[in-house]
Amino acid sequence: MSKDLKTGISTRAIHAGQSAEPVTGAVMTPVFQTSTYAQPHPGAWAWEYSRTHNPTRTAVQDCIASLEGGKHGLCFSSGMAAIDTLLRTLNPGDRVLCGDDVYGGTYRLFTKVLARFGLLFDFVEMSSPDLVVPAGTALVWCESPTNPLLKTTDLAAVAAKARAVGARFVVDNTFSTPVYQRPLEIGATAVVHSTTKYLNGHSDVIGGVIVTSDDALAEQLAFLQNGVGAVPGPWDSFLTLRGLKTLAVRMERHTANATAIAAWLRARDDVATVRYPGFSGMVSFDLQGDLDAAVRFVKATRVFTLAESLGGVESLIELPAIMTHASVPPDIRAQLGIADGLIRLSCGIEDLADLKADLEIAFTAAAG
Ligand SMILES: *Cc1c(COP(=O)(O)O)cnc(C)c1O
Repeated sequence: MSKDLKTGISTRAIHAGQSAEPVTGAVMTPVFQTSTYAQPHPGAWAWEYSRTHNPTRTAVQDCIASLEGGKHGLCFSSGMAAIDTLLRTLNPGDRVLCGDDVYGGTYRLFTKVLARFGLLFDFVEMSSPDLVVPAGTALVWCESPTNPLLKTTDLAAVAAKARAVGARFVVDNTFSTPVYQRPLEIGATAVVHSTTKYLNGHSDVIGGVIVTSDDALAEQLAFLQNGVGAVPGPWDSFLTLRGLKTLAVRMERHTANATAIAAWLRARDDVATVRYPGFSGMVSFDLQGDLDAAVRFVKATRVFTLAESLGGVESLIELPAIMTHASVPPDIRAQLGIADGLIRLSCGIEDLADLKADLEIAFTAAAG
């Protein structure tokens, strides 16, 4: 089924980029576990070498491209590898304007690795309506909603500001997924995901993807994907393809559970601020009390697993200040509003009653 098929997103999640395997008719795209391919004549080939192309990888790339409404999808061995590859299209001296509360690994890659190669980064409050994209900016990097404060950005407005100065506009769409937000349709140059999270959805793969409709950028990215080589193997590609099939129904349930939990938390006296953007499965809240109370809270849950990461079918809980965001200096965390008692939930797709009962136990433990 072609990747530009004009069907609904649930249908595309199941069919886009895939057709019955021609030799046997196998309905599911096989795991093409091979590094190389026989050539009928020297240099005459449909498939050459699996760093360059692999049919299982191509299927998942085309499927995700279709979900984001883009022409080209390129998969990588991790979200970080996708982000790194995208940044390698820039040159020393190029300026990047980046949200000030992006994923910790992205902040680390930009400031500790890529800055050494001459890229210049400015960190700003991306969700501010007063955002200025300075002339001379090569690329604008945005996450919406952000992590862990779940602030949202008017992507169309930032796209227009980036376009006005000739900057590329890239959106990390990991937290939202194309079910709720398709940045390419509102002016983004490219979208990236950690497919590790909602797109695969089962906490059993590390992966990343870039989607773009810009032919020249896609060509540059394909060159880098092959030339640098941070590609996913066929098994990871297969698992991601399999996970994608249920994306739309999973997101519905993630949203239903998170919506109910956010409302339930808001009604409590022992919770200060609750942050939930109204879609997807991430909720964060400030627990009344000190760091010790927050530690007691996250250690008490049994259905919510104390773990980093997010977006899987199982619910996870974590303390950003000492887990996902520990690498952000304390003064910057304080400035951003990431308090010691801030708790982040990745609401899974279990029974809502069980999730609430589990949190109820944690509130008791925190108070104790
Ligand atoms: C997890 C994550 C990444 C990094 O992806 P990996 O697959 O862990 O390398 C990048 N951006 C966001 C928003 C993430 O949540």
